[in-house]
Amino acid sequence: MTQEKSILKPSQKASFSDLFLRLIDSVFIIDPEDYKIIEMNPACERLTAKNSDQLEGLSFLDLIDPDEKNEVDKRLRMAKRRYYPLEFESKIRLPDHREIFVRISACSLEISEKSQPLQVITKNITQEKESQKVLQAYMAELKTLNEKLEILSTTDELTQLNNIRRFRARLQEETERARRYSRSYSIILFDIDHFKHYNDHHGHPAGDELLRTLGKLLKDKSRTTDFPARYGGEEFIILCTEAGSDHAIKIAERYRKIIETYPFPFATEQPLGKVSVSIGVASWPEAGTDPQNVIEAADQALYHSKKGGRNRTTSFLELRDLKPE
Ligand code: GH3
Ligand code: MG
Ligand code: MG
Repeated sequence: MTQEKSILKPSQKASFSDLFLRLIDSVFIIDPEDYKIIEMNPACERLTAKNSDQLEGLSFLDLIDPDEKNEVDKRLRMAKRRYYPLEFESKIRLPDHREIFVRISACSLEISEKSQPLQVITKNITQEKESQKVLQAYMAELKTLNEKLEILSTTDELTQLNNIRRFRARLQEETERARRYSRSYSIILFDIDHFKHYNDHHGHPAGDELLRTLGKLLKDKSRTTDFPARYGGEEFIILCTEAGSDHAIKIAERYRKIIETYPFPFATEQPLGKVSVSIGVASWPEAGTDPQNVIEAADQALYHSKKGGRNRTTSFLELRDLKPE
């Protein structure tokens, strides 16, 4: 163990003893073997709620919370070999059983060749710990609130599906991925047939309920690679990742059939005898390299499905083939 040269002049020693007495932190000088308290400053009495007579001769470990004793013992044994203090946190148990949190810094104090007691500076950090706890509780609450806010700001209130804002962000991500890895994706856009008729005959709340049921149906029936959202009003949109046009038409047809066979209330009273949807499909990059163009292409295909009698699927590619050059 190397020791630095003392920088104290003899005349300063008295004022250092004064400093020891007035220190806010508690300084225990303890036996390195049985940890019996040999010397202490007045702060030790305030910290432990014991007077110096009670403290003198007591093992430092007797002040420690029973659950922490083994750990503190281990640390003090390590501190015996240290010239610079070893810092750790622990808990002191007061006579009235209250616990206080302390930060301990302990090291060997080389008084002479023979006597090498341990110097144990103990700082009350209970308030610091309590503030930390309050802060952590606030942070946890803030995190939960932020998560709720994130869900609220990306979810359509009526159908609980993703809203269009969330959809556009996901579509942008997918376009970048498709570009980077030369992959394809498709958009399925659909619109409920004769929904105005449904509202007019059964009321707006019944129309809302149908939209809600349809939203749940889309969530339940979507594949993991589908990303459904409410596009607005009675229109819905699905991003199908990893799907080119042929595959997307099959997916769209699957959804169309699920919807036309679902027993929605008053379904048979609709003009087509069922609640149905008209669908438009468009794929990246054939329908446009900009994602907005792909949506517009799906919209054109959807319009064609409406014109063709509703309850059907049209793809942008077949629409293009139908158009005269
Ligand atoms: P088409 O087959 O041509 O699509 O006929 P449609 O009646 O579905 O089309 P239209 O655009 O004339 O009517 C859409 C209706 O959807 C009108 C609007 O009141 C209704 N709608 C839009 N959003 C909501 C909603 O959130 N709740 C309810 N209940 N109705 C809605
Ligand atoms: Mg519409
Ligand atoms: Mg409609």
